[in-house]
Amino acid sequence: MIIATDMPEVAKCIVSQCAYNADDSCHARAITIGEGAAPDCDTFFDNAKHTKSSRTAGVGACKIEDCTHNQDFECNADSIQVGSGGGSVNCQTYTKH
Ligand code: SF4
Ligand code: SF4
Repeated sequence: MIIATDMPEVAKCIVSQCAYNADDSCHARAITIGEGAAPDCDTFFDNAKHTKSSRTAGVGACKIEDCTHNQDFECNADSIQVGSGGGSVNCQTYTKH
């Protein structure tokens, strides 16, 4: 069995209302980017209770094929940043082809 350990890091996320967020960082084990055709954080979970984890999240999967960092439905950037804009929670490192 091969276990992936080389995920790009979520270097920063300022979406404080998400359950996985603390101190402007994402502490999920891994996130998925891509909700429909938009580079939104599919793991976003609006909740009053927040994770106690201190780990830094990785990008487990990304469905946004038209991003220059996407290869084979995965993110190949060194790290990404997540923020909010236009009423959605999205990958700020997204770069359209
Ligand atoms: S990257 Fe996504 S899952 Fe992680 S804290 Fe931000 S909005 Fe939540
Ligand atoms: S940088 Fe591009 S490939 Fe990486 S998570 Fe963001 S949208 Fe997906």
